[in-house]
Amino acid sequence: MEDRIVSARRQTEDDPQLEVGLRPRSLKEYVGQEKIKEKLTIYIKAALERNEALDHVLLYGPPGLGKTTLAHIIAWELGVSIRVTAGPAIERPGDLAAILTNLGHGDVLFIDEIHRLNRSVEEILYPAMEDNALDIIIGKGPGARSLRLDLPPFTMIGATVRAGLLTSPLRDRFGVMDRLEFYTPAELEQIIMRSADILNMRTEKEGAAIIARASRGTPRVANRLLKRVRDYAQVKADNIITAAVAEQALQMLQLDQKGLDEIDRRLLLALVEKFAGGPVGLDTLAACISEEPETLEDIYEPYLMQLGLLKRTARGRMVTAEVYTYLDLPPREDAQQKLW
Ligand code: ADP
Repeated sequence: MEDRIVSARRQTEDDPQLEVGLRPRSLKEYVGQEKIKEKLTIYIKAALERNEALDHVLLYGPPGLGKTTLAHIIAWELGVSIRVTAGPAIERPGDLAAILTNLGHGDVLFIDEIHRLNRSVEEILYPAMEDNALDIIIGKGPGARSLRLDLPPFTMIGATVRAGLLTSPLRDRFGVMDRLEFYTPAELEQIIMRSADILNMRTEKEGAAIIARASRGTPRVANRLLKRVRDYAQVKADNIITAAVAEQALQMLQLDQKGLDEIDRRLLLALVEKFAGGPVGLDTLAACISEEPETLEDIYEPYLMQLGLLKRTARGRMVTAEVYTYLDLPPREDAQQKLW
């Protein structure tokens, strides 16, 4: 499932150099997420005026919405260095201690997938975030003693798909918590036009708009689709991304106008045909499309809910009335009668 073109996760085919090249560098260049930008602008200005480190920031939301990008921008706006790592990469408390002791005054430490830190590592973070202190144990057994080292003030930026995945002691230590939202088609169009410019691609506004609508509210998907459409334009058209070229390329990729692919359609159809529209439990639904329940819940469902095609209820997942129109099926009552 990892190679779905519409997957918001970073994939091996995503060229890291290119991702970095397309990354906006300042808050001004960063498209959308207006509420977060407004707040951050104030906090950053206040921290700079007081000559203090910015409070710790937790950014959460589906992958590909710009959390890593925002962390780099915050460091850039503060004029400090950033150290980037990820929860699963920090295996032992000593690994984290080494990172922390190497931070400069006011630096940013970015930990992606922070919910995946193991417990013993996480415990090192509590005093570090709260008191700028590192507690280390020297020796073993009865002779062991604990030593407290001072750390420079720093800003921790954590990223995760859902704030609820963090333990509450960790969550409580973030002064700023913000959820990134899906982008509107207009914002994605702006991102696509900007990327096309950087990549030196001739793109008409109408072509960008079509790619934007199929990008699942996600800049990473927008940039990936843009690259694929560029290939198509180069080989099949005159190297210009027009509306017609974008439409044909999406068709070739088997994506519809909303950016839904075969797997999304299979999922919705399974809900309608096998479970009469729901409700059905997450695990059962995940098994229908051979996905992990967590992946379905954190990565695919949010977009389907945003489109108003899927609902989460206390009893399980349900389709909405719109699904019947979308799949070109008779409305629910008729569908049920047919099943009986
Ligand atoms: P996340 O950390 O949330 O998975 P990233 O920060 O890695 O997402 O963003 C993925 C890609 O999307 C980046 O390479 C960047 O080019 C692009 N991107 C993300 N947010 C924006 C934005 N607000 N404006 C322009 N491009 C963006």
